[in-house]
Amino acid sequence: MKTLSIIIPCYNEETVIQITYERVKSVLNQLTGIKSYITFINDGSTDRTLEIMTEIASVDTDVFILNFSRNFGHQAAVTAGINYCKTDLAVIIDADLQDPPEIIPDLLQTMEKEQANVVYCVRKSREGESRFKLWSSKLFYRFLNSLSEVKFPLDTGDFRLIDSTIIKEFNRLRERGKYIRGLISWVGFKQVPYYYERNARHSGKTKYPFRKMISFASTALSYFSKKPLLLSVSLGFIAVIGGIILAIWYALGKIFGYTNAESGFTSIMIIVIFFGGVQLLTIGVLGQYIGILFDEVKNRPEYIIENTINIEQ
Ligand code: UDP
Ligand code: MG
Repeated sequence: MKTLSIIIPCYNEETVIQITYERVKSVLNQLTGIKSYITFINDGSTDRTLEIMTEIASVDTDVFILNFSRNFGHQAAVTAGINYCKTDLAVIIDADLQDPPEIIPDLLQTMEKEQANVVYCVRKSREGESRFKLWSSKLFYRFLNSLSEVKFPLDTGDFRLIDSTIIKEFNRLRERGKYIRGLISWVGFKQVPYYYERNARHSGKTKYPFRKMISFASTALSYFSKKPLLLSVSLGFIAVIGGIILAIWYALGKIFGYTNAESGFTSIMIIVIFFGGVQLLTIGVLGQYIGILFDEVKNRPEYIIENTINIEQ
């Protein structure tokens, strides 16, 4: 008999977690020939999320809880879920019911039929998302793909079914800054899409404010592409060529008398400001990668678990 874990990261989801549990459970109960478990990761919630989970786990011993010592972020929570996973298969799904658990049987079927290691869910449509989020994420995934050495499927979140091969390889990845959907693509093996309609959040607010979106995007970009570093090289190159041309132009101007070198305040100001900006920008890009090196070298754990429920250590 195959075993399946449903990995659900939760951060302040008190309004929805009970319903999520019920909907996931009723889907799992319909599966035949599969023994399934639910792993809730409480990512430092400050509301009643942990309390509700604990109640659920006291009745249903197939529900596991990993309780973080504080909020470590969505990607760390999913990472913990995969790290603790001992089953043949795992589904990563959000707590807010944006990803309908009802398609899990279809995911399993697709995996079986295609003999795949990953079935990733591609959003055909997204309800209840701000126009800014839709637009920025569309643009971002395309931008990332154009820069990254690995190609990622577009319009895909972390919602997916993975098998034990992927779980095993994922658990060997040592980097701290995890961009999970990218890493799973990077691992390789057979990965197939499944198209679905993404719903609006059941209740509560998004836990990804603009600030977190930016930090998520910058992890994705800087861990999956070294091309921004090349930016300074190409800008520098353009500047040097421009400089040489200008120098020749002025030298010839002096000889043939077609320039009057004194009147040049505006052009000098423009050049100084422009290259000042270019330098700050490129130093900033360098700084971004040095910051990452700093974080990785410190080698801190990605998350700290305060306690677990229904899991023997
Ligand atoms: N989440 C988390 N830690 C965080 C932020 C989010 O565990 O710091 C969880 C959250 O509870 C949800 C999932 O990650 O299950 C996705 O978050 P959310 O739905 O707020 O993001 P959105 O769908 O708006 O991008
Ligand atoms: Mg959501």
